[in-house]
Amino acid sequence: MLNNPYIGASTNILCVIGHPIEHTMSPVMHNAAINDLSLDYIYLAFDIPPNDLKKAIVGFKKSNIIGINVTIPHKEAIIPYLDELEPLSKQIGAVNSVKNEGGVLLGRNTDVFGAKQALRDAGFKIEGKKALILGAGGAARAISFALSEKIDEIFISNRTKERAIKLAKELHDKTKIKATGKDMSEKTLRSLTYSVDILINTTPIGMYPLINISPISKDLLNENLFIFDIIYNPFQTQLLKDAKEIGSKILNGLDMFINQGALAFEWWTGKKPNIKLMKEKIIEQLGSK
Ligand code: NAP
Repeated sequence: MLNNPYIGASTNILCVIGHPIEHTMSPVMHNAAINDLSLDYIYLAFDIPPNDLKKAIVGFKKSNIIGINVTIPHKEAIIPYLDELEPLSKQIGAVNSVKNEGGVLLGRNTDVFGAKQALRDAGFKIEGKKALILGAGGAARAISFALSEKIDEIFISNRTKERAIKLAKELHDKTKIKATGKDMSEKTLRSLTYSVDILINTTPIGMYPLINISPISKDLLNENLFIFDIIYNPFQTQLLKDAKEIGSKILNGLDMFINQGALAFEWWTGKKPNIKLMKEKIIEQLGSK
């Protein structure tokens, strides 16, 4: 798969860290872009359990790992170990991309751009709409702040209700948007799905390997809801299958994923990657699942 015949001491390392990590397609798309541009880089994936995060970051600082993508569950937890944050990720409280500049770690959030661009390309107009976000982790933070620029109101439903309330309060305090934190019980979801325009799943429910479950039962969905599931492995989660059957407009997480990855790639390497190629390689790898 790799074209770089000179992998050696000079090779720059890029990687993604998460736990679990086997679902990730980041190496596929980044290595495709690296090969296409004939760069002396390689992109790897590291499974880092939460208790090892600090030790891993200390090690990364001293290494030739110059770019790190951060995925579930580290997007918020990594912040105390970074040296500098760009203003947007400081406001959001979540980082998904890190640049190692000679031992100084800079944190950035490219999920915000990725989500906004994906919704725009899918033709969903945020202005004046109401959103229900399932989950209150790192991705939910990025998406809720991305939406807050133009949306009317945001509801956040999370398994741990306190975390939803905390995120909603932060959103309101920092952006003045109307935001409410809720639990994720069936009763709560039933009361919300008819009063919002878009439902966004940011929980890992439905992600490989647990592909037959959905974060919300089918009978709570309706055809007027735009349903965005940010999972991209598989392309069609159980939630999106249900939504499609009902006749809702749907969007999976692939375009968000590619947009966020392309922006991080350009930040690390100074080169614009071939987005079309990145997408083709992921589709090739995941097939029509
Ligand atoms: P995270 O920070 O760990 O947050 C996970 C969220 O999901 C938390 O709100 C958590 O609730 C909830 N959750 C986890 N397991 C659950 C379960 N079994 N039942 C109910 N709720 C559950 O993770 P993240 O970084 O936000 O990532 C979340 C998902 O988004 C992952 O699947 C990731 O691959 C995907 N993602 C996709 C893209 C993309 O570009 N397409 C970008 C970012 C993330 P608690 O607060 O109760 O723990």
